[in-house]
Amino acid sequence: EEIDMADIVRVNNLFFQYEIGKKAELILKELDFSLRKGEIYTLLGGNGSGKSTLLKVICGIHKPQRGKVYIYEKSLKRWTRNELAKSIGYLPQNPKLFFIQDTLEKELQYTMEQWDIESPYEATTLLESLGISHLRHKHPYDLSGGELQKAALACLLLRKPEILLLDEPTKGLDPVSKKQLGKILIQLQSNGMTVLMTSHDVEFAAKIADRCGMMFEGKITSESEPA
Ligand code: ATP
Ligand code: MG
Repeated sequence: EEIDMADIVRVNNLFFQYEIGKKAELILKELDFSLRKGEIYTLLGGNGSGKSTLLKVICGIHKPQRGKVYIYEKSLKRWTRNELAKSIGYLPQNPKLFFIQDTLEKELQYTMEQWDIESPYEATTLLESLGISHLRHKHPYDLSGGELQKAALACLLLRKPEILLLDEPTKGLDPVSKKQLGKILIQLQSNGMTVLMTSHDVEFAAKIADRCGMMFEGKITSESEPA
């Protein structure tokens, strides 16, 4: 099979349904998609069109019933959980932080221990660039919605995954924070990261994405490259 090395993620003829049975609804169907190395790609599309589901399939949370997913040239089936976790940073639509007995600073330390990494970033620098260094002594469960979103992003950036899957990263962010996020994503891109995100914020997507895809009823129906 031909594999384009420029595609960091490739999805072919994917079918996915949450429930099995004759009447079960297909959530993703005949879906083809590829993510080029180094790009920022935004998935747009209505509620329930399948954006979050696609992200979950790509990071290995859900297994498709049919079709193929390749990360680099390797079939997703052949990736171990640990390998996937190291290469892919996934920000869920409703992120949670887990080290809830202690401060955000401890959460970051815990993240590094958990992955057995020495982060290429200074935790404090990362928090500063996200505008949340003043929150480092706070407990994650005391954070506001937007603050939690940024804290979760900081935890996942710490290990510098090559691929970022961000489900609604602008959700709950004020305009200043949104701008900061855009700057950070472009900076990460220049450091070699590839970003696949979902968004309902078309303006944000147009500003920072290299390509946008429109999802409708489980398929990407059109793709565009904003000027
Ligand atoms: P939104 O813009 O609201 O985030 P989305 O495009 O991300 O929507 P998905 O979360 O992928 O949509 O959901 C696609 C469809 O799959 C929806 O109809 C949803 O109800 C259904 N679905 C999602 N998760 C599950 C689940 N765990 N079990 C059953 N059905 C589910
Ligand atoms: Mg979603």
